[in-house]
Amino acid sequence: MLGDFKKTTKRNLLKGIPWRFGPNWPGKRCEAKTIKGTPCQRPAKLPVGRCRLHGGASTGPRTKDGLKRLADSKTIHGRFTKSERAQAKARAEQGRIIRRELKELETWFIDNGYLKKNWRKDWDDLLK
Ligand SMILES: [Zn+2]
Repeated sequence: MLGDFKKTTKRNLLKGIPWRFGPNWPGKRCEAKTIKGTPCQRPAKLPVGRCRLHGGASTGPRTKDGLKRLADSKTIHGRFTKSERAQAKARAEQGRIIRRELKELETWFIDNGYLKKNWRKDWDDLLK
């Protein structure tokens, strides 16, 4: 198929018909490296950035199985998965609730005279 493409292009160039994707073409070109080591010169399919021959036609996995395989291959430790982030958020909220309650208790003890206002400093001095 590529042979036909090249033959047609060559024939057209010999006839004087300009090649649509010639050296002055302003569009984005495929970024794939060819077997020769040179970049592929075919026009890229956006947003993939590759030509049809280098995976530009692929739109990625669509089936549930394929998406799961992709996620598994890209997951490193799983600390940032949706469920892990939700659990971390819940733990953080629990901590905020506990700290708020402790603060309320401390205020109550200070207001009712069970603790001095600077009890933390005294406590630190005791432990020294
Ligand atoms: Zn290409």
